[in-house]
Amino acid sequence: MIPMTTKYVFVTGGVVSAIGKGITAASLGLLLKRRDYRVALVKIDPYINVDAGVMNPFQHGEVYVTDDGAETDLDLGHYERFVDESLTRLSNVTTGLVYGEVIRKERAGDYLGQTVQVIPHITDEIKERLKQCASHHEADLCIVEIGGTVGDIESQPFLEAIRQMRTDEGPQSVYYVHVTLIPHLATVGELKTKPTQHSVQELRRAGIQPDLLVCRSKYPLTDDITRKIALFCDVPVSNIIEGIDTEGSLYEIPLAMERQGIADLVTDKLDLPQRAADLTDWEQMVQRSNSPSDRVDIAMVGKYMDLHDSYLSVTEALCHAGAANDAEVCIKYVDSEDIERDGAQAHLSDVSGVLVPGGFGDRGIEGKIAAIGYAREHNLPFLGLCLGLQCAVIEFARNACGLAGANSKEFNLDTPHPVVIYMKDQEYITELGGTMRLGAYPCVLKEGSLAARVYGASQISERHRHRYEVNNAYRQVLEGGGLVFSGISPEGDLVEIIELPHHPYFVATQAHPEFKSRPNRAHPLFRGLVAAALQQADA
Ligand code: GLN
Repeated sequence: MIPMTTKYVFVTGGVVSAIGKGITAASLGLLLKRRDYRVALVKIDPYINVDAGVMNPFQHGEVYVTDDGAETDLDLGHYERFVDESLTRLSNVTTGLVYGEVIRKERAGDYLGQTVQVIPHITDEIKERLKQCASHHEADLCIVEIGGTVGDIESQPFLEAIRQMRTDEGPQSVYYVHVTLIPHLATVGELKTKPTQHSVQELRRAGIQPDLLVCRSKYPLTDDITRKIALFCDVPVSNIIEGIDTEGSLYEIPLAMERQGIADLVTDKLDLPQRAADLTDWEQMVQRSNSPSDRVDIAMVGKYMDLHDSYLSVTEALCHAGAANDAEVCIKYVDSEDIERDGAQAHLSDVSGVLVPGGFGDRGIEGKIAAIGYAREHNLPFLGLCLGLQCAVIEFARNACGLAGANSKEFNLDTPHPVVIYMKDQEYITELGGTMRLGAYPCVLKEGSLAARVYGASQISERHRHRYEVNNAYRQVLEGGGLVFSGISPEGDLVEIIELPHHPYFVATQAHPEFKSRPNRAHPLFRGLVAAALQQADA
């Protein structure tokens, strides 16, 4: 087959942030992939940070980690879950990365005496990065989401670059989707189109005329409203897609877009063959998650409980695991500092399972340790992720092995029993960005262990993002106390998974398995937790 040249679909957003550009890009990716097109996805983040690695998840949401160890925006998680492709660091472009590279080239003398400017040097660098990602995936279609809102100062060079691409690549190779808001004004009981008109005007000021609008709205758009949007924004009525707020599963959104023919509109304009998509499995998955026969309560004990986006992939993985078990998982978000104040019993006596996710810093740590101790002693199914494993080791060391004051060196440098320590080659960290153990690493599972049973494999690979590790000097005493190291790095030097026999489900991993859970392929550790919690609830 002769490879096609890549065509580009750009997704911009107007009126407000968090309007659903990521889900729109991901949905389009799914619908095009199901039409047998090879798809690449890129998220552009106009902030000056080089990556999301040192950004506060409380402000910015979860840091999503790829197999190749990039610390990226959470939208890449949506892309991977919808499109089911393993993305790389090429899929996240930031202002920091682009300017960093241009400045490096300037210092190296690569520009041969030229004055280095936003146009063409920065815009060329942006376009180059998009092409690199498309070519890495040998993509027929590369979907590029531009973060932020049209009109932001920071996004101007990116809008300029994508404007240029229509001229560079030709009008049949570039498509512009604009996601916008149609607010409902309660006082007059009407949907209002003016913000959308203004945001399209703003886009036009940057030289971009959208081909298609996705209109987010609380209520269905009337014919009147659609005609008005079409008239003012110069977009045909057929290309105005309604994006009604959904109460149900996020995974319904691509189905709603498919019904409105979004993928055919795109391929038609881009002169690509029209193909049908088989979405039967996706429809069944949505059906399953919308009408579960059972329900189960699982507590998530963490620090950033006010902003659920901080644990987005964990929440999604629990929801996938629910669908796989034909049950609705109701997550009880418990702030670990509340457990420090009230005790674990007060917050965990009404749940059937406990999950302790990843995290950094010592705030709320004792609450997480107490929650794990409660789960261990009350036979409550437990899953620990990354920091969750480290806290489980601390708890076990203190309360089952008699190592009073055991701790991680992250929380107490003077602990008498440092059961969790800095990893060996990282004793002298001087920079925080990109210096953790990041990305996919293999792990060998112990035969006959719970981990080997739920994974149904003897070797696995999971993504990591951490600096600290179980201290090998304490392995013997912890094993003596009954803790099982059921997942170890192939070299044998790193503890990856721990578990407790004689407990219905007590398992923790140093990795972040949540990143690899998919809506129709729930991650085994999460599926196992929900299955065990359901049994617990029945008992
Ligand atoms: N703070 C711990 C570490 O650096 C755990 C990190 C995490 O949970 N992602 O090792």
